[in-house]
Formats: sequence, C-alpha cells, structure tokens
Amino acid sequence: MSAQSVAAPAACLSDPVALPAFGAAPRRGTRQVHVGGVALGGHAPVVVQSMTNTDTADVAGTARQIGELWRAGSELVRITVNNPESAAAVPRIVERLAMQGIEVPIIGDFHYNGHQLLAGEPACAEALAKYRINPGNVGFGKKRDTQFAQLIEFAMRYGKPVRIGANWGSLDQSLAATLMDENARRAVPWDAGKVLREALIRSAVDSAERAVELGLGRDRIVLSAKVSGVQELVAVYRDLAARCDFALHLGLTEAGIGSKGMVASSAALAILMQEGIGDTIRISLTPEPGASRTKEVVVAQELLQTMGLRAFTPMVTACPGCGRTTSEFFQELAGVVQDHVREKMPEWKITHPGAENMTLAVMGCVVNGPGESRHANIGISLPGTGEAPSAPVFIDGEKAVTLRGENIAHEFVALVDDYVHRHYGRGADGA
Ligand code: SF4
Repeated sequence: MSAQSVAAPAACLSDPVALPAFGAAPRRGTRQVHVGGVALGGHAPVVVQSMTNTDTADVAGTARQIGELWRAGSELVRITVNNPESAAAVPRIVERLAMQGIEVPIIGDFHYNGHQLLAGEPACAEALAKYRINPGNVGFGKKRDTQFAQLIEFAMRYGKPVRIGANWGSLDQSLAATLMDENARRAVPWDAGKVLREALIRSAVDSAERAVELGLGRDRIVLSAKVSGVQELVAVYRDLAARCDFALHLGLTEAGIGSKGMVASSAALAILMQEGIGDTIRISLTPEPGASRTKEVVVAQELLQTMGLRAFTPMVTACPGCGRTTSEFFQELAGVVQDHVREKMPEWKITHPGAENMTLAVMGCVVNGPGESRHANIGISLPGTGEAPSAPVFIDGEKAVTLRGENIAHEFVALVDDYVHRHYGRGADGA
C-alpha cells in the first residue's frame, strides 16, 4: 500500500475517550476546541502536533515535510507564516496536501505582522485551521491592542480557533515592567522568577479574556505559556491550569538537541500529564544536522504511549543486554521488530485497528527472557552465551514454537504479522 493511499495514520476523533492511565489523575476538564477535524481538550485524547522547519514559501518542500510529519503520526502541523510570500504559499500547500490525500489541519504561526498577512491573503486566512498568536510580539506600544484585535477579528470572520501562545523568550515587556513595579510595592516582594512566571501567565490569560471580550468563543481558544526549564514549566502550567478552563498546549520551548531535548521535554510533560494537565503536546527538538524532523513526533507518541495515555504502535520490550549476551543479534532483532511494526502501523490502523495495543518482547537470555516474553502478546527469548542455540517464542503466555538457525529475525517478524492478522480488525479469527 502506498503511503499516499493511506488515510490519517494516527486516529483523532475516532479514538476512544482517553481515560486516565493507571495512577494518573483524571484529565482536567477544559473547553473543547475543534481544529479542523481534530478535537482538543474536553477529555479528547491528548493530540500530537509538530512544526515544520522549511521555508513556507517553498510550497513543494513544505508540503513534503508536512507529509512526512503526518505519516509519522502528527495530527496537527504548524508552519511559519512570516512574510507575504509564505502567506501566499499557504493555500497552495493545503491544496497540494489535499491532492495527496493528506488532510492534516495546518496551523499558521504569526509574529509581528500577522494582522497584515491575513488582511493581504484572504485565501491564507481561509486555508489555515488555526492561528497562533504570540501576545508578546503581536505589536508594540499603542499598536498592540489594535493589532491583537485585528487578529481576533480575522479568527471570528473565518471561523478559526487561535492559540494564544506566550513565550519566555518574547515576554510582553510592558506587562513584565508593570508587574515588577507592583512587586516593588509589596511588603514582602516575590523573587524575580515568580514575577516573571506571573507575567507569562497573565500575558496568556489576560489576552484570552480580551479575545473573549472582542467576541471570540471560549471554545475557540487554546493557551500556552512556554519556558525552557523543566521546573519552571511545571510551575507555570500548574498555575495556568488552576486559573482557567481553556484547552492547554504543552511544550518545553527550546528543549535542545538529541537526548537532552527528549529527556527534558519528557520529564516536564510527564509530570503535568500525570496531573491531568495538557490537551495537545509538541516536543520542540533541535534535529541533529541532516536528521529527520519526524523524531519529535515519534518522541511525543512514545511519551503518551509509555504513560498509558494513548496507543499508537505496538511497543517492544527489550532487555538492555549484559555480559550474558556476547552477540549484538538480540539488539538488532529488537530494532528490526520495532521498525517493522512502526512501518506497518499506518496500514494496520486501517486494516487491523487495535494492533497498536499489541505488546512485544525481545529478550537476550534465559534469565528474564521466558518470563518477560510470557507477559507480552508475542515474545522471543534468544539464547545467551553458553545456552542452546534455540529461541522459544511465546504467544499470549504460552510457548508456541522454537526458532533456530539463520532466519530467526525473518521468522519472528512473520509470526508478528500472523498474530496481527489473526487478532485484529477485519477477518480476525482470534479476537
Ligand atoms: S535478560 Fe539476560 S541478557 Fe537480558 S539483561 Fe537480563 S540477564 Fe542480561
């Protein structure tokens, strides 16, 4: 099946209502916001989103990257709209995606000149599914309120929701100065960090209330207040969640490159989601040079799945290996199996729904191998050093077959495919 003939890879509204994972607090009740066909908040499943890093004026390149992000499972994709050329490109990008069967809602990210770009390109205003507005740089001085009002009026005219996204790096300086002055008059002044957190939250919440005064429905507003430190982000969002019932977009801004970015984002977002806070997430990774942008989508999905909040693709349990494994074969097999199920999942999502809940185990020796393999739907225990060269396979807790020889990887993958065909979706005979 070609990628283009596959419908949306990660279900949105078709997902069952997200129940709290074992040990997680119930999801915080929020207004539900519809972004294109995707529901945010109001107990809808936490939505995965991502952002392109192409020049939006490059229609082909941007559409290609959006397609990659969508195929990886991004349910919303944000693009930069920073000049007339990029605004003019937006409807052409959306049209190109539709021709390829890619119907992912596209969010326009506006800074400084959004009011002019939306006025100059009505087709852009229409094609976008949501507008992101940064209250810290929507305009300065006397122009700020006017330009903010213009953006909200465009949202109302075109029936679009907005994200009011405050950011530590572009904080509304006049609001920060006002709060600093107020703080100086306190009998016991707050520390500077608390004042700046307050400024960030007030910037988001006050702007949202201003949008409501202008006539935008509360069910058309998503809020975010991003910082780059884990503890600060947790403190900001706990406070933000306590003060309003707007749907919240979670993300650690400028999380960083590689493992640092993944760990920092996961640490912060996991704490908040465990408390029921957060309706959509973005992992803001800096890609390694030449690396795919889709990594941020994979990390977001794996975070939600390992927390038990959603299921996207079968998860492979694999032991870390130790001195009892002298070959790298079991690590290679774990990688092959994880790559195989991730690659097959867009197709299985349609032909074998439910396969994303399957659990797999690839274990390195007899110590924990059979036990862990029995806990999985399908697991294999490979021979460790000095063990007989055979690999028992367990299916739903029972030893089903023993694999030997050169083709263990191929045969195990075939058993996984066979399990999916027998247990999930149309024509399943074992479910
Ligand atoms: S299962 Fe065996 S190979 Fe894997 S970590 Fe445990 S003892 Fe080592």
